[in-house]
Amino acid sequence: MNAAIPFIDTHCHLTDKAFDADRAEVIDRMRAAGMPAAVTIACSDDELPKLRELLRAYPGYLFGAWAVHPEYPDHREADEDEIARCASEPGMVAVGETGLDFYWCKEPLDWQRERFRRHIRAAKMAEKPLIIHARDAEAEALEILKAEKAAEAGFVMHCFCGTAATARDVVDAGGFVSFTGNLTFKRNDALRAVAAAIPLERLMIETDAPYMAPVPWRGKRSEPIHSRRVAETIAEAKGLEVEAVLRQTTENAVQFFRLPIGLAVSND
Ligand SMILES: [Zn+2]
Repeated sequence: MNAAIPFIDTHCHLTDKAFDADRAEVIDRMRAAGMPAAVTIACSDDELPKLRELLRAYPGYLFGAWAVHPEYPDHREADEDEIARCASEPGMVAVGETGLDFYWCKEPLDWQRERFRRHIRAAKMAEKPLIIHARDAEAEALEILKAEKAAEAGFVMHCFCGTAATARDVVDAGGFVSFTGNLTFKRNDALRAVAAAIPLERLMIETDAPYMAPVPWRGKRSEPIHSRRVAETIAEAKGLEVEAVLRQTTENAVQFFRLPIGLAVSND
């Protein structure tokens, strides 16, 4: 049965206030759907205590990452040591999300580039992979990742919206590509063609919940169980069975984030 194949939401925001009323139920639904884990991201100093509390409440099930988001210009800048130390806490599996955003923020953006480089150096110190947010800035983000040798730590371009050429460059540079609910949107045929062209061994699935709910939940609050819909869309785009996509993307996520979980994949 499909439900027996585990899948992992590699990027959600369970600390978001959108989940304050029913967070435990959302996580119960994940378990009921057969999800063995999820990676939840804190994007500011404010969210970090809440993330730590959540990781303590769900050890071995929820895993975390923290970095100040590139959309936040007026934020305290943590130094490399502090970021690396935080990424090494129990349950923390990555540094991010970090990167460049030329959509919400306009030049001069040297503060964004500096923060990004600091996050990359911290990830290498902590030997943890990077979760990259790049909006209207994919090519430059990749240049910085290459210049800082980010592949030594590992990196994933999350919520990928770039071109096939950029996706190929990411793969060639040793990176992973992750898709979220927008892959299912009606107008996104071009993005599905990009997904079809990326080797399955370099793909991961995510929701970015509470944002970006896939069709048919578009416009509603998203939650981690909907990441399965992204795998279904990748399967359609590639002409593969969804089971194959679930198996490989789950394996990719476990290896990329080095998740200390045992997977009971039934061979049905
Ligand atoms: Zn996000």
